[in-house]
Amino acid sequence: MILTKNEKKNKIAKIVKLLKKLYPEAKCSLEYEGDGWKLLVMGRLSAQCTDERVNIVCRELFKAYPTAKALADAPINDIEQIIKPCGLYRMKAKSIKEESRKLHYEYNGVVPSDMETLLTFEGVGRKIANLLLGDLYGMPAIVADTHCMRICGRFGMYPEGQKDPVKTEKIMSELIEPKEQSDFCHRMVLFGREYCTAKSPKCDTCPLKIVCKDEIKLEKSGVDKIDECLDLVWQVFSEFEVPVFPPEGGAEYKRIIEETREKKNISFYSASHNGKIVGVLGMRENNHIGYFYVDKRYHRLGIGKDLFNLMKKDYDLKEFTVNAAPYGIPIYTRLGFVPTDKEQNVNGVIFTPMKYKK
Ligand code: SF4
Repeated sequence: MILTKNEKKNKIAKIVKLLKKLYPEAKCSLEYEGDGWKLLVMGRLSAQCTDERVNIVCRELFKAYPTAKALADAPINDIEQIIKPCGLYRMKAKSIKEESRKLHYEYNGVVPSDMETLLTFEGVGRKIANLLLGDLYGMPAIVADTHCMRICGRFGMYPEGQKDPVKTEKIMSELIEPKEQSDFCHRMVLFGREYCTAKSPKCDTCPLKIVCKDEIKLEKSGVDKIDECLDLVWQVFSEFEVPVFPPEGGAEYKRIIEETREKKNISFYSASHNGKIVGVLGMRENNHIGYFYVDKRYHRLGIGKDLFNLMKKDYDLKEFTVNAAPYGIPIYTRLGFVPTDKEQNVNGVIFTPMKYKK
């Protein structure tokens, strides 16, 4: 389901509310102690480095050079040695020395309050400029860092995987209330670390699961969607590291899929997200049930169970055994669970119904 701009605005307003409850204090994770110069320096050091490391490094840096003037006049080699753990240290040392010089000698130590001027400082891009404007001056500002870009894509605000910070900033600044923008971005960092992590988002325990899930459309798919559904099935099976049906493995599965495609002897229940099918449960004529999904995130959102429940409205089934699992071994005997592999990633299993209710 692709959301309209108004739907996106409403959804993000709900998310803003939930995040406020979750993280009442929206604090910048860089410990700059209210000093704009320090935030300017720390923002530059944070490129491709964690905020945690920047905080540690800056304790030493600001102890050695407690003012913009001191840092501006410091020997470049000394700065490099201190900030080395932040990575790209030569470039960053040059930037923070130069930006400290400019701030002290040209702006009397006061961080400018407009984007245009901030962008004239060496090493300052839109991300840092927005951080400064939002934090120091309470201005509307979207800090399109890695957390914000990833999570807003998962929320369906733009295609997931988009990595263009300028586009993200533009889109999100039109969707979020101006007064909420800066705090929203700080909360995104906390939320991105705690729940919506890059590699293994904790969707099963996520407090925002409800909003994330409400745009996933579940339906019984007709013959017109059979190809799309089977493509997903094959994609999932191709991702298995071991053959699904020993000894023939994936090749045998491919044959079954192609046969099904031709005969159309299967009905599908599908879950789609942003117009893309992400979960499939197929009921074959011989009553084998195939259950697949593509991404562990959808698995963790409980989409598998939802598909089962939808299917059960049509088929009065009571009990199942697992006929084949990703590792070719039976793992469960009853319905009412979501199957996974050892790493909780899987996505596909076949069931045979044993008993019917009537
Ligand atoms: S449900 Fe998952 S993807 Fe959605 S916000 Fe939570 S952790 Fe992120």
